[in-house]
Amino acid sequence: MKRIYLDHGATTPMKEDVLEAMLPYLKEIHGNPSSVHSFGREARKALDEAREKVATALGASPEEIIFTSGGSESDNLAIQGVSNALYTKGKHIITSSIEHHAVMDTVNYLGQICFDITFLPVDEFGMVNPDELASEIRDDTILVSIMTANNEIGTIQPIEEIGNICREKGVYFHTDAVQAIGHMPFNLKEQPVDMLSLSAHKFYGPKGIGVLYKRKGIKIRQIFFGGSQEIKLRPGTENLPGIVGLGRAIELAAEDIEEKREGLILLRDRLISKLLEIDSVKLNGHPVKRLPGNVNVSILYVEGESLLLGLDIKGVAVSSGSACTSGSLDPSHVLMAIGLDHQTAHGSLRLTLGRDNTIEDIDYTVDVVKEIVEKLRKMSPVYKK
Ligand SMILES: *Cc1c(COP(=O)(O)O)cnc(C)c1O
Repeated sequence: MKRIYLDHGATTPMKEDVLEAMLPYLKEIHGNPSSVHSFGREARKALDEAREKVATALGASPEEIIFTSGGSESDNLAIQGVSNALYTKGKHIITSSIEHHAVMDTVNYLGQICFDITFLPVDEFGMVNPDELASEIRDDTILVSIMTANNEIGTIQPIEEIGNICREKGVYFHTDAVQAIGHMPFNLKEQPVDMLSLSAHKFYGPKGIGVLYKRKGIKIRQIFFGGSQEIKLRPGTENLPGIVGLGRAIELAAEDIEEKREGLILLRDRLISKLLEIDSVKLNGHPVKRLPGNVNVSILYVEGESLLLGLDIKGVAVSSGSACTSGSLDPSHVLMAIGLDHQTAHGSLRLTLGRDNTIEDIDYTVDVVKEIVEKLRKMSPVYKK
């Protein structure tokens, strides 16, 4: 059976090129970058080169790149690192109500121990209002953490505007850019961002490796203890194959961004307009300020989960906004934050496109969605055409 992968927001397939770059470091080059001998120096060289590549891709300096195990760890390190460093200065942290769990659960934990957390609301499209942010910043605010692009609904935040407000008020600004890398260019020398999280497996790199960018001079305190790797902020022997893979993947991600963007937008908009042809379907997220590969719709009178399983049987991989499969009956906090009622949220479907998807994939998917929706609605006691 034909299988179609429309879940690139969850993870992406690794590129052949990236694997090729990694292989020597999984095979013959096994040294520890901290060792002084030639084996160690060989490993150190690869580590330095990868760091250089990441810095170049982000418009940063190599000293500002900290390798971590992925997006979740980078978010934790940024937020807990700041709270550990600045708790005597202030205990107020501002974030949005649509962050990834790695941010949301971290600030919730801090809220339980003694910090004061403000969750900024978002509008119906999932946008944070910068003026509202400005009015929430207080003398004891130490950190603002707002994601660049949302993983569920794809909404892209005005991070420059947000960053400028933070800078004016002298507050650190962290952004979770895990979904954004490869879809928009970054030049952190110019952008008012103090810390940024990214993860290789979201841009065709290996899983279990990520980066926290930390601008020079920004003070964070370690949350893990051990060796002096990664300027002591991420002790432990480096995941060199992963780091080399991330270096190659980010280099590739930065190539032809505009062209890849346009290709994805074409597919995305085709998928959106065809899905909206189905009765009682609405688009979630912003109509234009959204990730080029992100489609999120609510299909009324249908359970997103049932639709997901039906699509899976037909070989189409998507995800839904009702996380029944993940052991919770509550719909996603993101869909709640943009004002959906429970029923609409439970009927939501996320389809995230990638570079290997084709027009045929889109059209086949729409046909299958239509077929399943019709079948499910026939069984629905509330649906009347
Ligand atoms: C995937 C994702 C993460 C987590 O990254 P991991 O590398 O899987 O830990 C964090 N934030 C966002 C927005 C994501 O999409």
